[in-house]
Amino acid sequence: MTGIPLSQPDITEKEIQAVVDTMRSGRLSIGPRQSRFEEVVAERTKRRRGIAVNSGTSGLHLVLRALDIGPGDEVITTPFSFIASANCILYVGAKPVFVDIDSRSMNMDPAKVEAAITPKTKAIIGVEVFGDPTHMDRLAQVAGAHEIPLIEDACEGLGGVYKERPVGSFGRAAVFGFYPNKQITTGEGGMIVTDDDKLADLCMSMRNQGREDMSLHDPGCNTHAGSWLAHARLGYNYRLSEINCALGIAQMERLDEMLDMRRNVAQMYFQRLMGFKDLILPNLHENETRSWFVFVVRLSDLYGGTERDRVVQGLRRHDVGAANYFPCIHLQPFYKKRFGYDKGMLPIAESVSQRTIALPFFNRMDETHVELATHTLYVMLQREQLLMQKDAS
Ligand SMILES: *Cc1c(COP(=O)(O)O)cnc(C)c1O
Repeated sequence: MTGIPLSQPDITEKEIQAVVDTMRSGRLSIGPRQSRFEEVVAERTKRRRGIAVNSGTSGLHLVLRALDIGPGDEVITTPFSFIASANCILYVGAKPVFVDIDSRSMNMDPAKVEAAITPKTKAIIGVEVFGDPTHMDRLAQVAGAHEIPLIEDACEGLGGVYKERPVGSFGRAAVFGFYPNKQITTGEGGMIVTDDDKLADLCMSMRNQGREDMSLHDPGCNTHAGSWLAHARLGYNYRLSEINCALGIAQMERLDEMLDMRRNVAQMYFQRLMGFKDLILPNLHENETRSWFVFVVRLSDLYGGTERDRVVQGLRRHDVGAANYFPCIHLQPFYKKRFGYDKGMLPIAESVSQRTIALPFFNRMDETHVELATHTLYVMLQREQLLMQKDAS
C-alpha cells in the first residue's frame, strides 16, 4: 500500500457481471434496466416515481425546469455545498439567494431561510451536506407554510434516515447523484424521486429531448411510427444508459452492506480523533441513521484558512488524500462578478469553510489506513501549534 486515496468506488464481480450481461443483451439505452433502477431507488426513498438521469446536476436542472422557474425568480440555497446545487439556478436564469448556515450541522439555518423569503421566491433547495440531514424537516415546514416547493439536493445522503423518514422524502422532489465518490456509483448518473406525477412526467419528457410519448423505445427498431421525432417542449439528452443502470441496480443491492462499512470507518475515525483538541468532529443527531458520504473534520476557530490549507497540503505530501470541502459558492469568481457578492456576506459559512478538512473515506478503509491518516493529521496539527507559538513569541 502506498497512498491513501480520498475516496474509492467499491465495485465487485457482481457489478462487473451485471455490466457485461447488459453489453450482451443488445439493449444499451432506454430499456428494462433503467425502469428497474428507477423502481429500486424510488422504493428505497418511499417515493412513487424515480427518473434516472445522466448526473445529479442534470436532475436538479430538470426539477427547476419542471417547476417553471426562470428569469425574475429567486431560489434560496446554501453557500456551503458542491457548486451544482447553485449552478442549476443559473441554468434557468433565476437568481440564487444564499442563506447562512448553522455552524454545527453546516446546513442552512431554517429561521434565516424563512427570513429570506420574498414574493419572488419560487423554490428552496436544501442540501444534506456531507450526508447530514439536520433541519430538512424544518425546511419542509417553512416551505409548506409559504407554499413554496422544497427541492432536496440529496446527492450526498442516499440511504440516510432522519426522524424516521428516508433522505429524499422531504422535498417536493429530491435528487441523488452517482459520481464515483458517492455512496453508490453508476460512473456518472443521477436520479430524481418524487410523488408528484406531473413533475415526474415533465422530467421524463425533458430528459429525453422533450418527447411526449413515453412508450417509445429504441429508435433503431422502427416501432415508433415517426413520433420519435415529435417534441412537445425544449428538452435535453439527460438519459442514463442501460450500462450505467445495470451498475446502479447492482450497487443498490449492496447499499446497506456498503453503508455499514462506511459507518465502521466513521467509528474508527471517531475513536482515534476524539482526544484531538482543536478538532471539531462531525455532528451526530440522535434521531438519525447517517449515510456517511465523506468524513469532514474542522479546525477550531483558533485556526484560519492559511493553517487549514497547510494541513491539507501536508497530508497530501504524505500521500494521505485530503480536500477543502467546500469553498463558499458565493465567493466563486463568476458568482461574485455576476451578483456582486463578497466576503462578509455570510460570516458563518465563510468562517466554517476555511477550516474544514475532508479525510480519506471509502468502504474498504482498514485500521491501518485510518491509523496512518489520523497519525499524519496529528503531526500536521502539532506543526501548526509550533508555528503559532513561534509567531506569538
Ligand atoms: C455530487 C453532488 C451533486 C451532483 O453531482 P453530479 O456530479 O452532477 O452527479 C449535486 N449536489 C451536491 C451537493 C453533490 O454533492
